Amino acid sequence: MPSSLLEYRPAPDLLADKVILVTGAGDGIGRAAALAFARHGATVVLAGRTVAKLEAVYDEITAAGLPTPTIYPVDLAGAGEEDYRALAHALDAHFGRLDGLLHNAGILGQRTPLARYPLRLWEEVLRVNLTAPFLMTQKLLPVLEKAPAASVVFTSSGVGRRGKAYWGAYAVSKFAIEGLTQVWADEVEGVSRIRVNCINPGPTRTAMRAAAYPAEDPNRLRPPEAIMGAYLYLMGDDSRHVNGQSLDAQ
Ligand code: NDP
Repeated sequence: MPSSLLEYRPAPDLLADKVILVTGAGDGIGRAAALAFARHGATVVLAGRTVAKLEAVYDEITAAGLPTPTIYPVDLAGAGEEDYRALAHALDAHFGRLDGLLHNAGILGQRTPLARYPLRLWEEVLRVNLTAPFLMTQKLLPVLEKAPAASVVFTSSGVGRRGKAYWGAYAVSKFAIEGLTQVWADEVEGVSRIRVNCINPGPTRTAMRAAAYPAEDPNRLRPPEAIMGAYLYLMGDDSRHVNGQSLDAQ
């Protein structure tokens, strides 16, 4: 593994013939990841809740002459077991396998003391950031098992490793993502061709970061396109033997 994944220089065809699903593919880091995967040869399944944003990414990918992606609308706040079973069925019917699954979508919730954290928001943040990635992965396991070497990547955060005041349900959901990664990685180790890791993107110029730090100058932050090394590394075969790791993108 390169000492800093910012320096990772993948082969141009790193992801040729791979089918990779990205959640939250319409904006921010997910959009950049979908484009980076397509540029390295992957057929990308663009999953998210705002179809117009997914269509814009679709258009960008096809205009560049890259492998034609697929749009799969899903609202992670409301989707349940049947929805993820239907997704698994659609992927199986269309592609016969899934080589990569990037759980990128997430919501911030409120920056509020736990003493006043609203229950409904707590439940929504945990649903979108934790339960949905868990359930989607569970239902997609059979189609992931059909790939020669599948990579599941969850998204963590700095506050998923060290708790900080007022980060509430968001921080708790990211701690849980670190745990989910470890438990799942241990369960597949040695008995499956699936590997499970997570990425902490680090401070990145997106709408979520701006909402969390409204006074910050976004130009001081790396844009999503600049942190793609970790994402490409974990999706490609260079990381074939990496399992159970929490990597820093920056
Ligand atoms: P953005 O807010 O820019 O993008 C979040 C994406 O998630 C959007 O595409 C959004 O869709 C999608 N999304 C949100 N809720 C749902 C839902 N209910 N169903 C489906 N899709 C949904 O955030 P970032 O790009 O900054 O964040 C990406 C990931 O990186 C998150 O998991 C975040 O926690 C993590 N992260 C980001 C950091 C940063 O500095 N930016 C730092 C540490 C972690 P829509 O546009 O339609 O709302």
